[in-house]
Amino acid sequence: MSDIKQKRKIIIAVDGFSSCGKSTFAKAIAARLGYIFIDTGAMYRAVTLYALSHGAIRSGIVDEEAVVKLLPEISITFRFNPQRGASDIYVNGDLVEGKIRTIEVSNCVSPVSAIPEVRQKLVAMQQEMGRNRGVVMDGRDIGTVVFPDAEMKLFMTADPAVRAQRRYKELQEKGMPVSLEEIERNVRERDKADMSRAVSPLRQAEDAIVLDNSHMTVEEQMEWFLKKFAEVTNRPSEHEREESCASR
Ligand code: C5P
Repeated sequence: MSDIKQKRKIIIAVDGFSSCGKSTFAKAIAARLGYIFIDTGAMYRAVTLYALSHGAIRSGIVDEEAVVKLLPEISITFRFNPQRGASDIYVNGDLVEGKIRTIEVSNCVSPVSAIPEVRQKLVAMQQEMGRNRGVVMDGRDIGTVVFPDAEMKLFMTADPAVRAQRRYKELQEKGMPVSLEEIERNVRERDKADMSRAVSPLRQAEDAIVLDNSHMTVEEQMEWFLKKFAEVTNRPSEHEREESCASR
C-alpha cells in the first residue's frame, strides 16, 4: 500500500447514476490512497435543504429565482469526522450531514442542481478543493466539467432495481421509513432529470472507465480499481512525456 501512496497524486473523478454506491466506493478509494474524498452530491443536497427551509421550495415546487437569491448567504464547508472516516458537511456553520439524505431532499435536488447559478457556485468550490490534486471526487459532471483533465475517470452504473434496494436498506438502517416503490421512482426520475438537463448533464466522459457494480461486492470493486489505478499511475504523465521528448 505504501508504494501506492508514494505515486504522484492525481484526480480521480467518480461519476455515474444515483445510488450506485459512488460515495461508498469513492470514500474507500480515498482512504486506501490517503486522498481527500469529496462528495459533490452532498453540496447540491445542502443547497436544496437550505432552499427548503427558507421558503424557496414549496409543495415540491422549486422557485428558481428565490434559490438564486439565497445563494450568496449559503456558505458550505467540510470538516473531517474521524468516527465516520469522512468529512461532514456544514451550511453556515450548522452540521447538516444527517439532514440531507431524506426523501424530501432527494425529491427536490435534481431541479435545484439544474439551476445554472447553483452549478456555477458549486463547481468553482469543487475546482478549488481539487487544486492540489490527491482527491477522489464523486458526482455527475466531475470528469466532464469540473475536472475534464482528471487523470482517472470512472463511470459507475448498476441496475436501477438493485440501486433502489441498496438505498432502501440504507434508509431503513437509518430509521427513515420510506417505501421501496417510492425510492425506485425517485432513483429513475433523478437519472432522467440529471441526464436531460441543459447545464452539465450526466453523461459518461469519452475517456471514462465504466464500472457496472450490480453484482460486485465493495471488495471486488476495490480489487478492480487497484488494477486500473496501477495502469494509470504507471503510465508517464503528459508532463513527463513532454519532458522526455524535449530531452531527446
Ligand atoms: O450523489 P447524490 O445522489 O447524493 O446527488 C444528489 C443529486 O445532486 C443528483 O441527483 C444530482 O441531481 C445532483 N448532482 C449534480 N452534480 C453533481 C453531484 C450531484 O447535479 N456533481
